[in-house]
Amino acid sequence: GVLVGNLIGEDHVNYVMMYNMLTGLRIGVSRCQAKMKRPLTDEDFHGAHKYSFDIVGNELTPSAKYDFKFKDYASWVFRELREDYFQLDPADYLVSLTSKYILSELGSPGKSGSFFYFSRDYKFIIKTIRHSEAKFLLSILKLYHAHVKTNPHTLLSRFYGLHRVKLPRGRKIHFVVMNNLFPPHRDIHETYDLKGSTVGREYPEEKAKQNPHAVLKDINWIDRSKILELGPEKRAFLTEQLRRDAEFLKNIGVMDYSLLIGIHNLQRGNRDNVRRNTLKVFSPAIPMRRRHTQQNKGATSHEAAALRRVMREADPQSFGMKGAIKLPEQDTGDRQQFIFYQDEGGFQATGEQNEPQSNPGAIYYLGVIDILTPYNSLKKLEHLWKGAQHDRHKISPVPPTEYSDRFFSFMKAIMRGGEGGAKFKPS
Ligand code: ATP
Ligand code: CA
Ligand code: CA
Repeated sequence: GVLVGNLIGEDHVNYVMMYNMLTGLRIGVSRCQAKMKRPLTDEDFHGAHKYSFDIVGNELTPSAKYDFKFKDYASWVFRELREDYFQLDPADYLVSLTSKYILSELGSPGKSGSFFYFSRDYKFIIKTIRHSEAKFLLSILKLYHAHVKTNPHTLLSRFYGLHRVKLPRGRKIHFVVMNNLFPPHRDIHETYDLKGSTVGREYPEEKAKQNPHAVLKDINWIDRSKILELGPEKRAFLTEQLRRDAEFLKNIGVMDYSLLIGIHNLQRGNRDNVRRNTLKVFSPAIPMRRRHTQQNKGATSHEAAALRRVMREADPQSFGMKGAIKLPEQDTGDRQQFIFYQDEGGFQATGEQNEPQSNPGAIYYLGVIDILTPYNSLKKLEHLWKGAQHDRHKISPVPPTEYSDRFFSFMKAIMRGGEGGAKFKPS
């Protein structure tokens, strides 16, 4: 699997934004990482660190190509989430995100105007979010942290960091770093974004035939008579975790989230190479002054070594690299401790005796995404508007309690042994 990309040069519209995001991330995250770990306090959930970058550089921040400001929200909380619950290696995290180049997806896959970028190794996604979403995430961070702590196998988006960049006289751009549900080493043959809502939830089938990257929706799932092929054991695990996650989402008052399902067909394997070949390679060429000694004050020797690795990887010479990026063919096994990501980073179909199925076999890559939309006045208006034209229980904008119950019922229905998704279809 080779992804051939084009270099995004300095003339690319998002070049400066991307450069600033990566530079800020590297400094912000390594600063926090260099300190000794300590238990969280209440202030950590509201705290933020600000960095000011300029072309000269100073004690705290190395010189950068542009003048900009960077804000790192609740960095201690996200550090604990990453290390203790999501079990990321701190050095790997930094290397993945800030070294050499990043893969950028063309345009924006959602309607919301968010941009999505992949880390070079395809493990992480940077998503730009609205200011209101950032504020909302901070407001529920304590509950989210508690949920993740008691639900190590949660299917909810794994938020690894929340940050903001601001250009002089420019816009403020908020973004999160989160897990890419899809693996670097397996083709995804079908993708579904399921809400349990059926009004307007259809990707045109004729277009789907030509586009292996189409994100299909609830009606496509029902019309294709898809089911999640899971034996009793895996079915029980998935049902229970979805129940708890949907309960959490109900409690924080959000809606419009979905269960994202990527299906890898084991018969087809990687032979069609339909992994994202539309990716571009972004090479930010971050100039770094090598100041480890100063930056590493107070760091343990392990952390210092990790930081040195990051600095080495952040090689300014990489600028100008033309990109053919080789994605691995093998699983690195780094997600094996999580039930739903245990089989090559996903959840393999099983039979009624819980035996792994390989003929026909599939690996499912699943997670609950887009979880930062509270039911606000705009959504209420949308509810009234769409509800007047369609069945008001089948439209996407419904109050959080109804949304959560419907979401959970739909997901139960589409597993083997469920009654199917058809009853959710508008009559
Ligand atoms: P909207 O609000 O219009 O639904 P959005 O900009 O908030 O859009 P999302 O719903 O978060 O975007 O994601 C859009 C698409 O991006 C998803 O349907 C999926 O294909 C892809 N995507 C999002 N998050 C992930 C993830 N964590 N892993 C893999 N793919 C993802
Ligand atoms: Ca969405
Ligand atoms: Ca959204």
